[in-house]
Amino acid sequence: MTDSGKKTAIDWIERNKEMIIEISDTVWGYAELGFVEFKSSKLLADELEAHGFSVERGVAGIPTAFVAKWGSGRPVIGVMGEYDALPGLSQKAVPHKEPIKEGAPGHGCGHNIHGTSGMSGAIAAKAAMEKAGMKGTIKFFGCPAEEMLSGKVWMVREGVFDGVDACLSHHPGSMNVAGLSSSNANNAVKFHFHGKTSHAAGSPEQGRSALDAVELMNVGVNFLREHVIQDARIHYVIEEGGGQPNVVPGYARSWYLIRAPERDQVEAIYQRILKIAEGAALMTETTLKVEFVKGIYNKIPSRTLSELVTANMREIGAPTYAKEEMRFAEEIATSITPEEKRDSLRKSKRPGWEELTDVLLDNTIPDAWNEGEVSHGSTDVSDVSWHAPTMEFGTTTYVLGTPGHSWQNVAMSGMSIGHKSLIFASKVIAASAIDLLTKPDLLKAAKDELDKRLMGRTYKSPVPLEAKPPLDQWAK
Ligand SMILES: [Zn+2]
Repeated sequence: MTDSGKKTAIDWIERNKEMIIEISDTVWGYAELGFVEFKSSKLLADELEAHGFSVERGVAGIPTAFVAKWGSGRPVIGVMGEYDALPGLSQKAVPHKEPIKEGAPGHGCGHNIHGTSGMSGAIAAKAAMEKAGMKGTIKFFGCPAEEMLSGKVWMVREGVFDGVDACLSHHPGSMNVAGLSSSNANNAVKFHFHGKTSHAAGSPEQGRSALDAVELMNVGVNFLREHVIQDARIHYVIEEGGGQPNVVPGYARSWYLIRAPERDQVEAIYQRILKIAEGAALMTETTLKVEFVKGIYNKIPSRTLSELVTANMREIGAPTYAKEEMRFAEEIATSITPEEKRDSLRKSKRPGWEELTDVLLDNTIPDAWNEGEVSHGSTDVSDVSWHAPTMEFGTTTYVLGTPGHSWQNVAMSGMSIGHKSLIFASKVIAASAIDLLTKPDLLKAAKDELDKRLMGRTYKSPVPLEAKPPLDQWAK
């Protein structure tokens, strides 16, 4: 590393490795769900505060959202960190399926590493800024509830990201890549149907089944699938379907997620689904209440930031693995079939993916290849990407081909392969933040690129002004 600022930052991370790993493992152990990450967010916020950051807690009306800031003036470089877990994925850090507590949450998306790499990257950048007397501000955004309830959307709506010149974050993955794909926009909506209860055999004619309404709505939407764009995705669950079969259900509820590559496509499909819901209520003589949970945008990629992050990854160098780590990975790999692995690699469309079929842990650093692709999932990082050049890069944490949101990912996020990903990513964040702080031309190029990609389109919050963050989702 020739740049002295970056060297200071990387040395800081090396010296504090144990502390960084301990924080990640502690958040892994807490495994708190979206909007109730009280212990996890406090741990990260306290650590940033201990390193001289001023911390504002409970931003945007969300108790577990916070902003930690150091420095003054422009440029303002943001680093995002997530720390929510997923329900039902409790798992020990062992290479076979073994929950810590059956049915409890687990870090199946590695957000323990996400939050911690952002935190340590920000602190390390600050160490370098302080030493070299660099101008500008580094901000860490503590972002709760990425998984389902999209914390950042509410933070963006309240102006928390205003004034940020560029934003970085890291997500554990199975490749070291600063991707260029977009992601699906989506809406999450609950449909509450109210009918009339009655004895299902004795007086069925007096009953109006809310469950019938839920089912008829699903039938309608399943017919709609033929008449929406190919890339749309519509999924639902029936959250509440009645008590027992001899009582006509007086109340039933479904929860829909509607996804498409562009925000306006989601809106168009959503309007049609609303009509189907109304039709179902009409058919069953029930009443309908629509609860809009949240919406998010599609992601705007940044080639400028992808190239910057890729160059820093290569300069720092990807981790290598010890024998016992390879044995761990080997055992994890037995949980998927060779066909599943092949299909997953093919789906990535990475040039030369065929050569990776025998690779367990990929420690190469390819150029981003996926410009113009839309990843099927969604992320609230997208909403930030409409406001400032944004890059969420991945580093190898998982065995190639293993599914996301899985026990395998929980296990690997809590052991040494995950730790290596964490330390590597922390260094890449710090180095890239320093480049953005010290190279005005780079920042300008990133901003010009964003303007060009937006083509004059502006962001309108996908959640209505009167809607409040669904803070009590897990209390229901
Ligand atoms: Zn995730």
